[in-house]
Amino acid sequence: MSSSDIISVYSPATGEHVGDVPAHTADFTRKAFAAARDAQKQWVSTSLQHRKAVMLRLHDMVLERQSELMDVIQSETGKNRASAFDEVLDVAITARHYAYAAPRMLRTRRKKGALPVLTHTVEEHVPHGVVGIIAPWNYPLTLTASDAIPALLAGNGVVLKPDSLTPLTALKIAELLYESGIPRDLFHVVSGSGGVVGRAITEGCDYLMFTGSTMTGRRLGSIAGERLIGYSAELGGKNPMIVAHDADIERAVQGAISGCFSNSGQLCVSIERIYVHEAIAQEFLERFVAAIEAMRIGPGPEWDVDMGSLISAEHRARVEDMVNDAVTRGATVLAGGRALPDLGEAFYAPTVLTNVAKRSKLYREEVFGPVVYVETVDSISEAIQRANDSEYGLNASVFADPDTAWEIASQLEVGTVNINEGYAATWGSIDAPMGGWKASGVGRRHGDEGLLKYTTTRTVSSQRVMPVSGPGEVARETYTSALKTALKLGKRVLR
Ligand code: NAP
Repeated sequence: MSSSDIISVYSPATGEHVGDVPAHTADFTRKAFAAARDAQKQWVSTSLQHRKAVMLRLHDMVLERQSELMDVIQSETGKNRASAFDEVLDVAITARHYAYAAPRMLRTRRKKGALPVLTHTVEEHVPHGVVGIIAPWNYPLTLTASDAIPALLAGNGVVLKPDSLTPLTALKIAELLYESGIPRDLFHVVSGSGGVVGRAITEGCDYLMFTGSTMTGRRLGSIAGERLIGYSAELGGKNPMIVAHDADIERAVQGAISGCFSNSGQLCVSIERIYVHEAIAQEFLERFVAAIEAMRIGPGPEWDVDMGSLISAEHRARVEDMVNDAVTRGATVLAGGRALPDLGEAFYAPTVLTNVAKRSKLYREEVFGPVVYVETVDSISEAIQRANDSEYGLNASVFADPDTAWEIASQLEVGTVNINEGYAATWGSIDAPMGGWKASGVGRRHGDEGLLKYTTTRTVSSQRVMPVSGPGEVARETYTSALKTALKLGKRVLR
């Protein structure tokens, strides 16, 4: 293998070289599919109790080896320890939830037949075959393992491409999956570029799970459409927070800190716009800025660091350009608004802007960094209208008295609404679906759909005694008349 076939991984926080992985080819990816396809034929015949036991072992293993996992995650993302721990927690919760829920979701169900008693009908859930997963860099453990877990439990093989910036975490969780009992040929991590490996996955898989930008998501969606395979995509967001007149201000400030700056704002459900009622706007802003000034930012594994670096110096420059563009067009910087070169090339300060002009890039476009702008509103209806005025519809956060908050939530055009929380309440509710409206995605992860999407259905009906069209010896007219009477009776009896 020549040096051009290597992807070198560097820590964005320290610049240190942290590892090398192969940049695989399309042919290598196709071989991974062939192996996974063979292995899946065995795997699908294993019992759900066996698959459940494997995932419960994985649950224990990620918790036992959390430090090892967090070290790898931090080394290639630059995120702070707490954000790395969120990933470990997410994988453990997902493994536990689906391990216990899969037997219920996947069991063969009796359905009503064409003719009561005479038709015995069942619905079966059958795995697609080999699922392709293409993941981004921002949550390299969560967005690889937590999508693979339900796919494997449902009886599929998996070929997974991690982002080229963060392949080491995916390789680490692959080791843990194998140790937990997943056959090596069933689950493959194939490192390489989106244009080569990503494309081969899109062309070879039986179902595609993609997390990443809306632009790539649209492109992959059209290929999935051409191939007529199932497709689920978790894409970008420009997520709003509403702080109503009756909000608990301190709670809203803490919610904004975690909603805007967790994982340095590189979170699909991160808050990038805040609409605060004028009655409390000044106090909210003063406290918010004071809380930001108290944040600890830097590299390293210490638990008390509140925010780490961005994913790369290039991404930091992109964030910086967007903020500078807004400032040039008249925005006021209340906090941050600058890179932090003393900490490293990829660090950018948590930033709050006001007076952002509508023609600024970041007014509508996702920054995917620690940058939020605040607008003051004079009514809840105005806040709702502005929150919904976006091409995206992923997540929203509402800080208000509960009655006000539930009323606001019912009017928001998004896949998840967090009341008195930034994003973690819905994300952590693994039993409920999570995903975006509008340009934020198609399909859902989490909830029953997060596993059932990795299956297709087969309905099997067995006809007893006579065909649905009636016994041959009875005249058609007599039979249809009997059917009519049965239908009338059925309306009253079969509710
Ligand atoms: P991206 O550029 O779309 O890349 C995501 C993944 O797709 C990478 O593994 C990339 O590979 C691969 N890829 C790129 N082009 C491809 C192609 N033509 N065919 C197949 N694969 C291809 O997104 P990103 O910049 O890494 O991630 C940031 C975006 O993801 C943000 O917009 C964010 O909101 C979104 N996101 C959404 C969620 C969610 O759950 N809704 C979660 C996290 C992130 P390489 O880069 O290795 O070449």
